[in-house]
Amino acid sequence: MIYEFDPKKYRFAVEIGEKGKLERLDKIPRPKPGEKVACAINWSVFDWSGNANDGYGEVEQDGVQLKPESKAFPSMSFKYNKLTFGNLLGAQMGVSTAMTLVLNGKIDIRNPAKMSTGSDHRTACGQRKNGNILFVTMENVTSKDLAEQMLALDCTIAFQGDSGGSTGYYNGELYDHGRAIAGALVAYEIDVDYWLDFSHSWQDRIYPDLAYAIAYMAYKKNKKALCTSGFRSAEEQLASQKSALKKKGYYQTEDGRVYNSKGQCMVSAVGESSHNWGMAFDSRGTWLEDMSNSELKKYGLRKPMSYEPWHVELDKRTTVPEKKVKFYKYMKEAYPMDAKTFQMITGLKPDGVVGKATLAKMREVKELINKYVKG
Ligand SMILES: [Zn+2]
Repeated sequence: MIYEFDPKKYRFAVEIGEKGKLERLDKIPRPKPGEKVACAINWSVFDWSGNANDGYGEVEQDGVQLKPESKAFPSMSFKYNKLTFGNLLGAQMGVSTAMTLVLNGKIDIRNPAKMSTGSDHRTACGQRKNGNILFVTMENVTSKDLAEQMLALDCTIAFQGDSGGSTGYYNGELYDHGRAIAGALVAYEIDVDYWLDFSHSWQDRIYPDLAYAIAYMAYKKNKKALCTSGFRSAEEQLASQKSALKKKGYYQTEDGRVYNSKGQCMVSAVGESSHNWGMAFDSRGTWLEDMSNSELKKYGLRKPMSYEPWHVELDKRTTVPEKKVKFYKYMKEAYPMDAKTFQMITGLKPDGVVGKATLAKMREVKELINKYVKG
């Protein structure tokens, strides 16, 4: 099995579970508040002089040495988003391995402890050219087969962990060989539901990439992000036009847009606002208002309007038809699209009755998707 993640967006850690205890793989990860376990693989570490129930070998976490260095086994470390051979001091994550598999983009098996290299269940961790980390488990392969596989997966560096009956993979479901083990490598994903709050719960139909980018930024800043306006249905868009028009000097043009006295467009027409497609996140009166565009860019986000410092979108620009397509696709996957919801988001009267107008709109949406979605 293979799991790939971007270590700039996920926390990559070694875990030794409950001290002095061997546990099945799914019991070992220790997510912090607001984190979810995306994937874990067994990685018991080695030093035969150690106490077996406490795991073996060296473990470093966030620059702190949790277990002393092992001379017998090659170690790997993760520092500044790079997986390296040795170099444990001050690493974000450092751990002993069974052997090296790939170094400097070439198969290079260094096995000073003379661990078995024959056909067996095997576990590996490596880093691809693009910087992503791979967790790999394979059944009945030699260490050389495993090294070749890691190279074929574009790894410039890879290591083998404990193997045989210890080999295990956990991604919410456990695939192991029934053995309790001492340690694991874990990719922690941030939990969007923990980091995002919504003033209006029904507005949480935010495009997943946008929700994740904001939640990740909140996680990095250790602050929750409050959405004061997210997904907005056609009805809500009309209502916000109506309430804006009560303000002094505001006027509406024929296309439906509402402008203020300075001529700035304050409320878009129905279907024109990124909010109608779940592609905007307003956070009025919160820390997000103070974020500059140059800082937001690091998280793949941007504020397109200087006079709306609370309004955030994805940095990757998309046209309205593209937004529509993304939204329909996402809605279809995330929510059962009943007639009423469909009518609501397409600006039809939300009566739940599939009549001529709804059918025509459904055809229009289908054509739109066919036109813009390739493959
Ligand atoms: Zn907005």
